[in-house]
Amino acid sequence: MPKRDPYYDILFEPVQIGPVTARNRFYQVPHCNGMGYLRPKTLAAMRGIKAEGGWAVVCTEEVEIHATSDNGLAAEGRLWDDADIPALTKMTEAVHEHGALAGIELVHGGYSNSNHYSRIPPIAPSMISVNSYDPVQARSMTKSDIRNFRKWHRQAALRAKQADFDLVYVYAGHSLTLLMHFLSPRFNQRTDEYGGSLENRVRLFREVIEDTKEAVGDKCAVAVRFAVDELLGPKGITSENEGREVVEMLAELPDLWDVNISEWENDSATSRFEKEGYQEPYIGFVKSLTSKPVVGVGRYTSPDTMVSLIQRGVMDMIGAARPSIADPFLPNKIEEGRLDEIRECIGCNICVAGDWLAVPMRCTQNPTMGEEWRRGWHPERIEPRKSDEGVLVLGGGPAGLECALALGNRGYRVILAESSDELGGRVSRESRLPGLTEWGRVRDYRVGLLEKLENVSIYCGSELNAEDILEFSAEDKFGFSHVMLATGATWRRDGIAREHREPIPGLSNVSVLTPDDLMNGVSAKGKVLIFDDEHFYMGGVLAEKLKLAGHDVQLVTPAPDISTWTHNTMEQGRIQKRLLELDVRLTPQYNLVSVHSGTVELACMFTDRRVYSACDTLVLVTERIPNDDLHHTLLANPDGIAQAGIKTLQCIGDCWAPGIIAAAVHSGHLAAREFEEEPPGEVPFLRERVML
Ligand code: ADP
Ligand code: SF4
Repeated sequence: MPKRDPYYDILFEPVQIGPVTARNRFYQVPHCNGMGYLRPKTLAAMRGIKAEGGWAVVCTEEVEIHATSDNGLAAEGRLWDDADIPALTKMTEAVHEHGALAGIELVHGGYSNSNHYSRIPPIAPSMISVNSYDPVQARSMTKSDIRNFRKWHRQAALRAKQADFDLVYVYAGHSLTLLMHFLSPRFNQRTDEYGGSLENRVRLFREVIEDTKEAVGDKCAVAVRFAVDELLGPKGITSENEGREVVEMLAELPDLWDVNISEWENDSATSRFEKEGYQEPYIGFVKSLTSKPVVGVGRYTSPDTMVSLIQRGVMDMIGAARPSIADPFLPNKIEEGRLDEIRECIGCNICVAGDWLAVPMRCTQNPTMGEEWRRGWHPERIEPRKSDEGVLVLGGGPAGLECALALGNRGYRVILAESSDELGGRVSRESRLPGLTEWGRVRDYRVGLLEKLENVSIYCGSELNAEDILEFSAEDKFGFSHVMLATGATWRRDGIAREHREPIPGLSNVSVLTPDDLMNGVSAKGKVLIFDDEHFYMGGVLAEKLKLAGHDVQLVTPAPDISTWTHNTMEQGRIQKRLLELDVRLTPQYNLVSVHSGTVELACMFTDRRVYSACDTLVLVTERIPNDDLHHTLLANPDGIAQAGIKTLQCIGDCWAPGIIAAAVHSGHLAAREFEEEPPGEVPFLRERVML
């Protein structure tokens, strides 16, 4: 096994955390995952793999401590009574099996939970409407409620100890927690000893830390997660005023400080808006106020940055959620001197969408994420080849690159042919859009590893047609008798998508461009109107690009707001803000009904009332059409296929079904995993069922 560069030794020093010792400085901070109490085996397998990959501490997501804190649909952790212990024990066993410490983040969501499931009125320091648009109000806690909350937290800590956790959290790390609600004058208008002065508002936080230490501190470290800045300026807690004072007041009380910024969309900002290390300016002060270990996050994937953080005294342990999702083996790869094999997070927040949609999270970079238990996929191991067969992969986008890499890792002979001079397909093109540079990591990681595989040959500038494929496959020539088509998809220019099932009338009256045109360097002219009926990032990011290029830009969408699916990646607010600040004219809730020379007709989605907008260039962000002509041509020639000896022909990625990049990567990986294996059953993965 290669040895690590001594420069990184500092990252592998053990860290004492109260009564327990972490084997190194890699710390998987709590993160949601859409698995939670609903899918404990899926969850345990995912956490266990992080431990196997070298993380010294592996934490849960937020774990509700009581039925007054019910997150409804979201699949978070749950520890409401003893019957919830066995599900969590699965995780601690999986984590301990690989020598890591298991941490649990106990939570009470206060007024952030609507309690739709439990039907118990939510509780808060003071009466307040819940923070969603649910028609629910939280009631003001009485003294006995406060005593009960302390009791519930204590009981949950004891249950966590029984489940064999090594670290127990007291959680005020996002504005979504009851302890943060007590800390903040925005939510706490109490006039008793729990409200008013900062000392009073901190009282419950202090008491719960003390309770937890007293209950489980003999065996478990008591960690605190605290948001030192809410990024609300004087309206909220900031690292210059009360955020700092709270750390000063409680400095030596917990065994570990896990510090971040709030809300979650700030804490988990995407790479489109924040780069690696974006939290340092806020949390940097904490270490100077405490002798206890400090953990922080900032989408750290660079080992050099990590060393610098420790050397500069910013933190003692490198916290990571997304970098550990994208590469559960990040610590081991540094340890083994395999830095070029690190699968760096691209900061897209597709993982976060899993939590919002209450399904096991997926990851753009790591197709095995969420598949560890149900399909038995391991991020670093794959079944060896079953034969000496060769596979021709057509197309070097995310699907083709991942398929070629996974097949190559299995030991198959692979030829990857790409028609353009550049690998990466859509990822390369999209990474040149404003803010999306890091998305190029999807290409870089794969190309870097493919270049090391002797059994894989890559040919760029090789546009293959059906005849070429038949020739390549012919056994007496090259013998690549299996063909994977990863030829992508093309944005359509007729407007067909959700609102229009027929082409939009009058498109010939105006210059029409698609996202492909713009990414291929075609220039827009004059006033630009973008019609977005796709609803993810593309419409918004093109509006930004065109505005920055000096155009007058209007963005029209039938959806309630701009790039509406990005609520799931927690970017919607930032996208709309940026476009408004750039003076892009935003027209949500309007359909584009017809196009005339120099003008388009829009219709209100509710009243059908018509308005007109000037337009010289119309950009249609609607649907993509699979580039599957080759597939159909080959299928139409069964004799040719038989003569060439083609044994399997398969479409993967966007040419099979256009979707997000994560879906293309997953599709390529799946095809490689299933190649020459027993076909999966009717349901191709295991399910966790409710026990009757
Ligand atoms: P996906 O997301 O499914 O990987 P992309 O559109 O990103 O799809 O990538 C498809 C890639 O396939 C592009 O880089 C494109 O240039 C390439 N390609 C398309 N047709 C051919 C072909 N006939 N021969 C070789 N490469 C092709
Ligand atoms: Fe990073 Fe995107 Fe994977 Fe999340 S889904 S871990 S943000 S690459």
